[in-house]
Amino acid sequence: MKTSRRQFFGLAAGAAALTGLQAAPARAAKVKTRAKIVILGAGAAGTAMANRLDDRLKGAEITLIDGRKQHWYQPGFTLIASGLKPADYSVTQTPDWLPRSAKLIPEYVAEIDPAAKKVMTAGGATVEYDYLVVALGIKLDWDAIEGFSLDMVGENGIGAVYAGPDYAAKTWKAMDRFTDEGGEGLFYRPATEMKCAGAPLKYTFITDDYARRKDTRDKMNITYAAHSKSFFGVPIVNEKVRMLFEDRGFETTFDHVLKSIDPARKLATFSTPEGDTELPYDFTNVIPPQVAPDVIRNSDLPWQDGKWAAQGWLEVDKYNLQHVRYPEVFAVGDIAGVPKGKTAASVKWQVPVVEDHLVAAIEGKEGTKLYNGYTSCPMITRIGRAMLVEFDYNNNLVPSFPGIIAPLEELWISWLMKEVALKATYNAMLRGKA
Ligand SMILES: Cc1cc2nc3c(=O)[nH]c(=O)nc-3n(C[C@H](O)[C@H](O)[C@H](O)COP(=O)(O)OP(=O)(O)OC[C@H]3O[C@@H](n4cnc5c(N)ncnc54)[C@H](O)[C@@H]3O)c2cc1C
Repeated sequence: MKTSRRQFFGLAAGAAALTGLQAAPARAAKVKTRAKIVILGAGAAGTAMANRLDDRLKGAEITLIDGRKQHWYQPGFTLIASGLKPADYSVTQTPDWLPRSAKLIPEYVAEIDPAAKKVMTAGGATVEYDYLVVALGIKLDWDAIEGFSLDMVGENGIGAVYAGPDYAAKTWKAMDRFTDEGGEGLFYRPATEMKCAGAPLKYTFITDDYARRKDTRDKMNITYAAHSKSFFGVPIVNEKVRMLFEDRGFETTFDHVLKSIDPARKLATFSTPEGDTELPYDFTNVIPPQVAPDVIRNSDLPWQDGKWAAQGWLEVDKYNLQHVRYPEVFAVGDIAGVPKGKTAASVKWQVPVVEDHLVAAIEGKEGTKLYNGYTSCPMITRIGRAMLVEFDYNNNLVPSFPGIIAPLEELWISWLMKEVALKATYNAMLRGKA
């Protein structure tokens, strides 16, 4: 597939707008401070945060703590699991993204004591802070799926796109085999909050598309077992997905939450309002419940009651991402206990807000920037086509490129946004340039 000149410039303009590179506003003079800022997690949000703060502050002591050496570009997992990119497409080294002035402690955080303003690492070090930015992302709770373990991925029709780049590559092998042989394809999502809620749907569409390309679609059933009464939380997007599912001939069922896998019998058990029920599979993409990492759930930082308390998301104000009970603590990225926003695209809009409020606090002022819940999902509907779905806290569609990219249409340009432009945008964000 070739990109015409006109489409290319449209895409470039789109990517530039998304990265904010087209008209970078003049930066204010650096704020002098000796503040100790600790950032927990050096993924998408933590890394972007470190670079932005390094750019804004002079003399601050910025420390990141993260035990994983590799940085994972997770939106690439879907492309890896579709056989379009190799596993190393998503892998870089964390230190390569960090500002030189920042210190990285390559360990996991084991304990957080927000009253004493200190954190303890797994290796036993204590790190004190004046300001804490929590960017620890999500724990994929694989143990919650009885009968499942990650060493099954790639064999006997079991996939796990979310588990990491190598598992995404193994998932592709299983999906490739399934779309040769046919049988029962079974897809679903967890009932918890989750990162990129569009990803389970995308992978269902992609599997269907591969089967059609191989002319094996009539050898299989594709079932999507929704966790609630809808496929997607934004009603207008849900309706579009419903229409596309119907068009593609998917079987659908509702209020199904995966409990266990029996790989010997190739059966998945779901809890439903009517009790447990079994569905067969020859290929399935296992997606587990998603909760805050244990270190957060064992701390005083999560919501104390309400629907996010059990999952452990940080109790922050949904507009400025500042902790409600510990004002020197901020959340950014997937860990934030806010109604929307568990995507890398949300991180891009959250980071400047936290930067603004944190720097203002250092200066003894009030920040002014607000996060509106912006979340984006380039929802692939077949290889070469996607819908660029963007929405806010109020479920309003907030297209970045009105007149260029229509949000609910299956477009090639939206596919290019995912396949080509998103990674460049993401990398610019990591560097603090977006
Ligand atoms: C399959 C898939 C497809 C996706 N597709 C898209 C997409 O198309 N568009 C989009 O915008 N987003 C997409 N996303 C979502 C996006 O990748 C995440 O929302 C984004 O990475 C969130 O950034 P984060 O910094 O909050 O978390 P992460 O990037 O996950 O970083 C969290 C960091 O915390 C570290 N950490 C965890 N526990 C500890 C601990 N105890 N101590 C120290 N460090 C710790 C981890 O090692 C990690 O480096 C997708 C995700 C997946 C899995």
